[in-house]
Amino acid sequence: MRQLKNASEVAVVRLKILAAQNYKCAVCGVSLKGKLRGGPTLDHDHDTGLVRGVLCKVCNTFEGKLRVLSIRYGNGKVNELQALRNMVSYRSIHTTPRTEYLYPVIKKRRKRGSVPITGVKGEDKNKTG
Ligand SMILES: [Zn+2]
Repeated sequence: MRQLKNASEVAVVRLKILAAQNYKCAVCGVSLKGKLRGGPTLDHDHDTGLVRGVLCKVCNTFEGKLRVLSIRYGNGKVNELQALRNMVSYRSIHTTPRTEYLYPVIKKRRKRGSVPITGVKGEDKNKTG
């Protein structure tokens, strides 16, 4: 392992790894060719500092949010990868409907003083009592 010392070294290593990844994001595969400023990010483990690869901004943000949320997940008693595995498993089994329900379509609340555009679906406005 070699400790990178500054932003210049980070830039050199980012380019080297990006070339090894054929100028594609290591997660989603989007082309990062020609996007060398403000695009590709040298992803690393924030606990150990270990450089993992080069990600596009979206994947790097996604990875960071997963990390932060996984810390909250299970009150911090479940590690990040297990939290992800659990979510993948949950989402995978629900690609086939497991319940008989559809969540209601929620209309946006209207601003105070504005006139409603439509009524509530299925509700008869002239109905009394
Ligand atoms: Zn990506």
